[in-house]
Amino acid sequence: MILELLKADITELNVDAIVNAANTSLLGGGGVDGAIHRKGGKAILEECVQIRNKQGGCKTGEAVITTAGNLPSKYVIHTVGPVWNGDKEEKSKLLADCYKNSLNLAIQNGIKSIAFPNISTGIYHFPKDKAAEIAVNTIKDFDKSEKIEKVIFVCFDDENYKIYKKLL
Ligand code: ADP
Repeated sequence: MILELLKADITELNVDAIVNAANTSLLGGGGVDGAIHRKGGKAILEECVQIRNKQGGCKTGEAVITTAGNLPSKYVIHTVGPVWNGDKEEKSKLLADCYKNSLNLAIQNGIKSIAFPNISTGIYHFPKDKAAEIAVNTIKDFDKSEKIEKVIFVCFDDENYKIYKKLL
């Protein structure tokens, strides 16, 4: 498994799957979620609504998969990061679950290349350095890593990019 670092807009990447930092409603929101739905078009939201009708949204730490609509990638994996408040240990575990569950779902769908945004570090206020450490360690320790060819960490802001650059 190759690890790559990019400073980019995740909606522009041509990979098998991009990951969305969604919310439990799956109905879209701000930040990267808003950008994905805006550029990907209504096909993504339609599938999210179907999933919501079937299973009632997505719990924090879990992940679901849809088409990528008009985006260059093939799929969007929607995962729900934790909001940084309350039990810090529990929130850290949930953030690691986002990365693990997204990778497991990727493998189930034959995905070989996957791009992650910096989940929970925007509106959900997870400390960026701690979130980056969890992201990198969880991916490096992933037990089925031979099934994925490439993982891209996509940073949107300079602060995250510098933190990841140091870590990687
Ligand atoms: P959360 O609610 O999980 O915090 P946000 O979307 O608010 O989700 O932020 C998560 C991260 O995604 C932030 O670091 C933010 O800078 C980044 N981000 C926002 N827009 C984009 C984009 N188009 N491509 C990649 N990353 C983005």
